[in-house]
Amino acid sequence: KDGQKMGFCRRNGLLTLSVIAVVTGCTLGFMLRGTELSTQAKIYFSFPGELLMRMLKMLILPLITSSLMSGLSSMESKACCRMGVLTVTYYLWTTFIAVVVGIVLVLIIKPGTGTEMESNRLGGGPVMTSADALLDLIRNMVPSNLIEATFQQYKTDLIPILRVSTKTIQPNFVYVVPDDNDPKGRTVYLELTPPPDVIYKTSPGSSQQMNVLGIVIFSATMGLLLGRMGERGAPLVNVCQCINECVMKIINAAVWYFPFGIIFLVAGKILDMQDPSTLGKKLGWYGITVLTGLFVHGLVLLPLFYFLLTRKNPFSYIRGLLQAMVIALATSSSSATLPITMKCLLENCHVDRQIARFVLPVGATINMDGTALYEAVAAIFIAQVNDYELDLGQLVTISITATAASIGAAGIPQAGLVTMVIVLTSVGLPPDDITLIVAIDWILDRFRTMINVLGDALAAGIIAHLCRKDFPLSETGKNRHSNSY
Ligand code: ASP
Repeated sequence: KDGQKMGFCRRNGLLTLSVIAVVTGCTLGFMLRGTELSTQAKIYFSFPGELLMRMLKMLILPLITSSLMSGLSSMESKACCRMGVLTVTYYLWTTFIAVVVGIVLVLIIKPGTGTEMESNRLGGGPVMTSADALLDLIRNMVPSNLIEATFQQYKTDLIPILRVSTKTIQPNFVYVVPDDNDPKGRTVYLELTPPPDVIYKTSPGSSQQMNVLGIVIFSATMGLLLGRMGERGAPLVNVCQCINECVMKIINAAVWYFPFGIIFLVAGKILDMQDPSTLGKKLGWYGITVLTGLFVHGLVLLPLFYFLLTRKNPFSYIRGLLQAMVIALATSSSSATLPITMKCLLENCHVDRQIARFVLPVGATINMDGTALYEAVAAIFIAQVNDYELDLGQLVTISITATAASIGAAGIPQAGLVTMVIVLTSVGLPPDDITLIVAIDWILDRFRTMINVLGDALAAGIIAHLCRKDFPLSETGKNRHSNSY
């Protein structure tokens, strides 16, 4: 009993510290914005935050491989199939619902109507189409080289505006390379401070991000086969179990560093933020529309689905996930948050570890309700700004492509901004108009990542309930005494 009490205090203490860290980071960031810090000083200042991101990213690979290989090795093929089909169906369904919520809200609020915004068009047309994106998704599922997959993800080259050179011409500005075929050779300076990783990519064919999807597919296949091998597969399963336990122990120790790292991660971002007073009214309404949609989907609809499917209180389940949501807010990456989401699910929500080990990594790569919602809102907002009337067929196209684009987006900061191109080109909107929404994308990204993480975690609870016959221990609360992860 004492142990349980200690655990409770520890968990809540950590959560409180993390929330205090976010508030302190915001305050510190706004206070320091008045002072003229040099770029070098900003780099030093953000260093503890950078370390936090590195720590989380370091844990993704061992966590995914060891948990999927050891988790699936002990499962029946039939149970596994059922769980897989249920998971993917649930993910597609909730993503589609998120898109519909976004579309309804943006059509009601109409944040982009009226004239006030100008975009920095580069011209040159899109290089990436929906078909390219689909091919990339399939390519990523089948990595040609596993080692390479741990640091490279396949991505077809994007539109000119996103081909940004790493050369920083002026502090706080990045140089955008124009379309090679553009006879006028136009260039623009985009205020992206600091530019999101994804936009740094210059070489076609690959990006320097881990191919999580490929690693998930490979590890799941290995896990299933190891289970069929019986005695001969047992040594490798044991190794994976050991690695998994160690990773969870590292996470348990590392979480105590997180509040400190969060302060500098958040403050560093605020230091670099564009002055909010320069953002137009329309952009403000666009932000409010996205945030309202995320709120309705994450705190009304998803909990409602959870309640209808499990008959349990969704909010006591969500309370156990608060730590993961704070980390999602601070890092804007659902992949980086994965270790903490896993920890919350196992320790606070007591979801069966076999189910959590499958549903979470798959969700972190393909289930992004927040991103899908935002993509639909942003596309229609851009249409409204351009006075472009969308008919019903185009709205349906947007809903399908936004769902697909969110599946294709990686769980990294501002990945959704890049896959937006697919949605825009599908209905003939100018992809360059992404520049209209770039200024506030970094903040919206944090909130949509929170909903992405929440969606994965609620899905794990629902799948655990629906598969309770296949996994007798899967019901909430029954594996709380298990000491192995
Ligand atoms: N940052 C989001 C995530 O990691 C993806 C996005 O919407 O850009 O889940």
